[in-house]
Amino acid sequence: MHVLVLGAGLAGVSTAWYLHRAGFEVSVVDRQPEAGRETSFANGGQISISHPEPWSNPATPFLALRWLGKPDAPLQFHPRANSDQWLWALRFLHECLPWRSRRNTEAIAALATFSGERLRALRAETGIAYDHREGGILHLFFTPDEFRHAPERAALLERFGIAARVCNADECIALEPALASQRGALAGGLYAPGDESGDAFRFTQALAARLREEGVRFHYDTRIDGLAAANGRIHGVEVLDAEGRRGMLAAKAYVVCMGSFSAQMVAPLGERLPIYPVKGYSVTAPVADPARAPEVSLTDESRRIVCSRLGDRLRIAGTAELGGFETHVRPERIRTILDWVQTRFPGAIDPAQGTPWAGLRPATPGNLPIIGKGPCENLWLNTGHGTLGWTLACGSAAALAELMLGRRPAPHFPFRVAA
Ligand SMILES: Cc1cc2nc3c(=O)[nH]c(=O)nc-3n(C[C@H](O)[C@H](O)[C@H](O)COP(=O)(O)OP(=O)(O)OC[C@H]3O[C@@H](n4cnc5c(N)ncnc54)[C@H](O)[C@@H]3O)c2cc1C
Repeated sequence: MHVLVLGAGLAGVSTAWYLHRAGFEVSVVDRQPEAGRETSFANGGQISISHPEPWSNPATPFLALRWLGKPDAPLQFHPRANSDQWLWALRFLHECLPWRSRRNTEAIAALATFSGERLRALRAETGIAYDHREGGILHLFFTPDEFRHAPERAALLERFGIAARVCNADECIALEPALASQRGALAGGLYAPGDESGDAFRFTQALAARLREEGVRFHYDTRIDGLAAANGRIHGVEVLDAEGRRGMLAAKAYVVCMGSFSAQMVAPLGERLPIYPVKGYSVTAPVADPARAPEVSLTDESRRIVCSRLGDRLRIAGTAELGGFETHVRPERIRTILDWVQTRFPGAIDPAQGTPWAGLRPATPGNLPIIGKGPCENLWLNTGHGTLGWTLACGSAAALAELMLGRRPAPHFPFRVAA
């Protein structure tokens, strides 16, 4: 059966991989000239199985009030005259209820664990290189108040079968010697040895190249303008190619992996997917002094900033803005990231050499991706991965392939199955 995958980011290329492996004939279409050019281009690089708690948790509404009006706040809300934004924000608040947040955390943990296994298996099978590291993730707490909750988090992760251990400041520095200058500031950490990091763009590129070698067709520079539907089925995708030619791409089944743009593609079919863009920023810079640059991937839990060593580069990422689809790089947000790295790892990079970037996380209110059946018989969805699209990429795609084969995927997760 021929399947057309719409979108060639992490979700789309991984979907193409698992469908191809499952024996489907696969084509991929994307408006960019190559795979991974939008949100999957310069994310934080973390395979963060140890961070299943969504942003929508009971603490966030209070934190958001505290951050209100602060230019360096991790989370900013830019109100727009747009009902989708307000509706999403209300649903986000609903997902902050303790029982919703618990349910979401559990589902994400199950999918993330499965995804980590799938990623390791894919790497073993393909041998693709993407500056990956298996050194775990060290979550850092710079206030005693935040560190106080680390044992609870470790216990919760243990219940999900995710290894994590609480470390005092000295133990953190032993794990990551580049933290030595932070001895006075650091309250402690939580180390998850099973986590990984790597360059999502390089991964996407390498996997797409491998798929091309194996006969999967990629239609790049091809904008998708709509899904042509009749009698509850999609019978084609309306496209515009780089030469300005309009046309139709047809297959037997279609998978929407269009990141933040998935909702507007599906809306004319009668379903409002709860996906809204949450903008984030990163800076990537060559390592100036290897002794001062961390090798273990880090999450600063106090500032909501992550940092990953990607070969001889350092990637620092973070911040969240709810304000629509624009991807303008605001200098004050980049300043926040650069100030962080200069304070925590002075001399690790030369800020003047940093490449700034902004991308749109395709976020659902509870951070649960939407995987499974779409609103038409032959339409499938693998989208809405929010803050964890790299962590969940392989597991989501492998699960979708199972669903399309009519099988039940292993993780305990609310997949969308046929009614
Ligand atoms: C700052 C930041 C840091 C992050 N850090 C991490 C991290 O450390 N770990 C983690 O797990 N996740 C992280 N994420 C999240 C992760 O990067 C995303 O969830 C993931 O990249 C989403 O992948 P995707 O394939 O769904 O979307 P995308 O990569 O955006 O892919 C969608 C594709 O659809 C195509 N498309 C859209 N509309 C059309 C159209 N009309 N016609 C044709 N093509 C179209 C686009 O060109 C694009 O290639 C981070 C995100 C950000 C912004």
